[in-house]
Amino acid sequence: MRFSEILGHESVKERLRTMADNDRLPHALVIEGPPGTGKFAMARATAQYIHCANRTDGDSCGHCPSCVQHQSFNHIDTIYSFPVLKSAGGAVSDDFMSLWKEFLNDSPYMDFESWQRMLGNPNGQPVIYVDESQEIIRKLSFTSHGASCKVVIMWLPEKMNNQCANKLLKLIEEPLPGVKLIFVSNSPGAILPTIYSRLQRLEMKRLSDGEVSSYLQACHSIAPEDALPLAHLAGGSVLAAEKALSSHGENREFLELFQKLMRLAYQRKIGLLKKWSQDAAALGREQAGRFCGYCQRQIRENFIANLKIEQLNYLNREETAFSRNFSPFINERNVEQLSSLFNKAEEDILANGNGKIIFFDVAVKVILLLKR
Ligand SMILES: [Zn+2]
Repeated sequence: MRFSEILGHESVKERLRTMADNDRLPHALVIEGPPGTGKFAMARATAQYIHCANRTDGDSCGHCPSCVQHQSFNHIDTIYSFPVLKSAGGAVSDDFMSLWKEFLNDSPYMDFESWQRMLGNPNGQPVIYVDESQEIIRKLSFTSHGASCKVVIMWLPEKMNNQCANKLLKLIEEPLPGVKLIFVSNSPGAILPTIYSRLQRLEMKRLSDGEVSSYLQACHSIAPEDALPLAHLAGGSVLAAEKALSSHGENREFLELFQKLMRLAYQRKIGLLKKWSQDAAALGREQAGRFCGYCQRQIRENFIANLKIEQLNYLNREETAFSRNFSPFINERNVEQLSSLFNKAEEDILANGNGKIIFFDVAVKVILLLKR
């Protein structure tokens, strides 16, 4: 991973580069910030830069033997450490190394949920156990293999159990020469305070909508007019944007259901609305809940569209096409009630209420609210 492959965060790159160039990288560093911003990629790029034999233009070369090893996650003086599940068959990172490389190959953006799934238990809580800190200390006791220093990259130090953290603390309090520890954290507040207070912190904030949007256009061939609304919804996280992208098909289905509801309610077609509520209920609890969330967003965005505040509007092309005729119906007299109607329906559905009854009740109320 080279710095140039990471989206945005130019000032963070510059700081890391300068520290490395001047041999002033702290022995223990934490890169912290929200998920999906590229923190782990930054840690990888830093390690590759440290080890590169031929740094060029403020980046690793990408070609020297050390860079080649890094790119296949096989660098001899780089130790990866991450949470694992004993129930999945091991207590240290090395037990899961081939799975881990597969995970890293999937995307530079680290998704904890997909790691849980890869470990075979979506509800399991992976941990960094005490065996792991013993293993790290053991590996660091060997001399390095010709590289300038050994680098430990630990993903999610907040997942260390107390025993593990206390054992590792010694390494942070009494640093070994030629060893750099880089921690990558989504929740620094959950790291053992005695460890956290000894780390130099580097924050990676959310990416801008423009940055995420250009990533979606470049890497997923999304049209600019669709990329920006997606990026905005993702709140500066490439991960969230990619997840939204994979639910694009679902959103299309939701839009059709939403349009149908509004059209039938406007025409007061009770019989067809009854059929509609059966269709909506057939989505099943989780998806029906997401559909209610989708409706709340459509109501809000159409209200904003009605106010003609274009720069605040985040609808995709299909939604915008419907909104042209629909938005005049959403105004200050009904926007709040419509929003809370769908909000309440979402709560009732997630609480295991009867979907057909809840959605038919919604449909009847929408008839009345559209007339306001
Ligand atoms: Zn190189």
